[in-house]
Amino acid sequence: MFDNLAKKISQIFDNLKSHGVLTQDILDKSIKEIRITLLEADVALPIVKELSAELFNKLSGEHVSIGMSPWQMISKCMNDELIKFLGTSRQELKKGDILLCGLQGTGKTTTAAKIAKIINKQNVLLVSLDTHRPAAIDQLRKLAKTNGLKFFEDFDLQNDNAVSIAKRASNLSGYDCIIYDSAGRSDVDTSMLQELKTVYDIIRSANTIFVVDSMAGQSALKTARAFADTVDITGLVMTKTDGDSKGGALISAKYITNAPVLYICNGEKINDIEIFDPQKIASRILDNHDVLSSISDAFSEDITPIALDENFTFNSMEKYLLQATKIKNITWLFGIIPGLKKFKEEISNAVSDKSIIKRDIAIIRSMTKKERCNYKILNASRKKRIASGAGCQVSDINKLIKQYEQIKMMICKMHGYTSK
Ligand code: GDP
Repeated sequence: MFDNLAKKISQIFDNLKSHGVLTQDILDKSIKEIRITLLEADVALPIVKELSAELFNKLSGEHVSIGMSPWQMISKCMNDELIKFLGTSRQELKKGDILLCGLQGTGKTTTAAKIAKIINKQNVLLVSLDTHRPAAIDQLRKLAKTNGLKFFEDFDLQNDNAVSIAKRASNLSGYDCIIYDSAGRSDVDTSMLQELKTVYDIIRSANTIFVVDSMAGQSALKTARAFADTVDITGLVMTKTDGDSKGGALISAKYITNAPVLYICNGEKINDIEIFDPQKIASRILDNHDVLSSISDAFSEDITPIALDENFTFNSMEKYLLQATKIKNITWLFGIIPGLKKFKEEISNAVSDKSIIKRDIAIIRSMTKKERCNYKILNASRKKRIASGAGCQVSDINKLIKQYEQIKMMICKMHGYTSK
């Protein structure tokens, strides 16, 4: 799940990496690409519209934000928005009983047994309310038997229905948790929803969980709305994430119900269930572990010493400039590097103007890894490419190289190395 979305988003970010400055054109193009990618991932149109409007509002009109390149800025905003849609943190089931609802075939029955197992309580009872489909009752009975779980047998299909079974089971005491598997239909159906509402009012369980089939695609929005209009959904479970589903159904269901996603199920077996972690999913979509930690570094107020030694490259120079952008004056630099005080004036000149610092960061970010480590390979055509990526002149690059050489020379003097 989300693999394709992750791949496409990563392509968009890769294209952005050659740009040092976020212009309106780049922003418009990126948001358009993100919108198409989300639609292809089956995220429902109203959500895509909201998400792209939010990205646009947050990023529009800004140029290089301090310490961030365009792809980092867009990636950070995307991450914040996705987290908003997926939830902010891992959520737990409430203490008490559970009613599962959803369309037929979404995996409710299988999920009932999986939850009974994962909550790891002593005395859990499984109750099937699907009297329309004896096969579904048998399925839950079998799952209970195979996995050593208790199954509610006190009913008679000739005389009972979902309502009478719900009444009888909900009067039982002594169970840590009773899990009710309600009846589904292949599509949204008024009589199914009415029956659900009746048993919901009888059971009054602490948890009413809507089971979402991750393969449901765009239709998940309509289904989720029908269930959310009938009962108060307190949590979501996403099933079949092991298939080639695109993930949009989860985002749709979350958007409509505003209920936390509790579990995701990734197979037919009893243990194929895991607690949902929104941060992990957002990271999977954006492939962004490194990005986010570097972004939070850029935002952090903490200033960490940068190794000023013979390995001082343009990577170090970028870190150095980033720290300079965060500080109102640069006296910090002299405090953290012993022996640097005597070069105060030269360095102040090199890093004192913030607009130049931003441009210089953009230049470094338009360099390849190889160029950052060995600036001597920067010939005329490479400089031209970098200048167009950073939106500046080749002469600006030459100035930055000169400053870099000055700093490098000072470092060498300080440590007694020979400048390479
Ligand atoms: P219900 O009609 O909503 O109760 O759905 P079932 O529990 O009967 O599941 C329908 C089918 O989906 C069954 O064949 C299950 O084995 C299968 N299924 C349920 N959950 C998953 C899952 O997470 N992954 C896969 N691959 N199959 C699942």
